[in-house]
Amino acid sequence: MIQVVGHKSPDSDSICTALVAVELLKARGEEAKAVRQGELNRETQFILDRAGVNAPEMCTGVAGQKVWLVDYSDLTQAPDDIAEAEILGIIDHHRLGDVTTTNPLEAWIWPVGCSCTVLFNLLQIEKVEITRPMAMLMMSAILSDTVGFASPTCTDKDKDAVHALAPLAGIEDLDGYIKELLIAKTDIAGLSASELVEKDLKAYPYNDRKVVVGQIELATLEQVDGMIDELQADLTERCERDGLALAALMLTDITTATTRLLYQGEWAGKLEGYAKDGKLMMENTLSRKKQGWPWLQEVLK
Ligand code: MG
Ligand code: MG
Ligand code: MG
Repeated sequence: MIQVVGHKSPDSDSICTALVAVELLKARGEEAKAVRQGELNRETQFILDRAGVNAPEMCTGVAGQKVWLVDYSDLTQAPDDIAEAEILGIIDHHRLGDVTTTNPLEAWIWPVGCSCTVLFNLLQIEKVEITRPMAMLMMSAILSDTVGFASPTCTDKDKDAVHALAPLAGIEDLDGYIKELLIAKTDIAGLSASELVEKDLKAYPYNDRKVVVGQIELATLEQVDGMIDELQADLTERCERDGLALAALMLTDITTATTRLLYQGEWAGKLEGYAKDGKLMMENTLSRKKQGWPWLQEVLK
């Protein structure tokens, strides 16, 4: 049984790609199941409900198993016992990470907006039938990762995939669906500061130290106005507990593409000069991968 596993702090892409990649492997005659490394966020739950698909079961470890990794190729985002698993394949759209394999593997890594875009093309190459639930999962993941095509990570391949998938998913009013999806994406009501930081947190090894960068996508920055102190405190606590050089959090208003960056830790001083009145604002910044993290790497040098 092959386990298909997305990254830690799972987002919609890592869940949807895992679920649909299982169908690709089954079409090849393999036995496979999707697993997840954490709780689903509200947007992912909304997508699964609309697709009528159950959540992958929780990953309890991959030692001794055959695995496919989806939506990452970094050890920090993999199950802790990944070194004892056999990695057979990767479907991803990030820079190549640091996983290594003993045997040759299938690596499908394209510079596009979403892992599901790569998977959609793979299904077409192999002439695998795309059912309505599969179309719903892939289309939604692409719209999520590209923030409804607005992200600078979005490519023509992503748009083409969505336009091919929408009729298969039974979606006639695509703009209406994007609105519903983005409302689910930015719903943070009732979440605690640490749940918010953890919602979409990535760890990066940098200059022999560890940095984490989280991102919360919002309909307006006012949604977190009353929580800034608690969020800062959570970042500070994380630095102390995990020995981080920096813990940063991108608060991103997806309607205006404006990001406020919160940051704590030993390296926080390197960022001070970019803040005005105690606020570090990044205009025209939606993407952690293409904008937030590259900028931070430059400043932290
Ligand atoms: Mg992801
Ligand atoms: Mg992705
Ligand atoms: Mg994302």
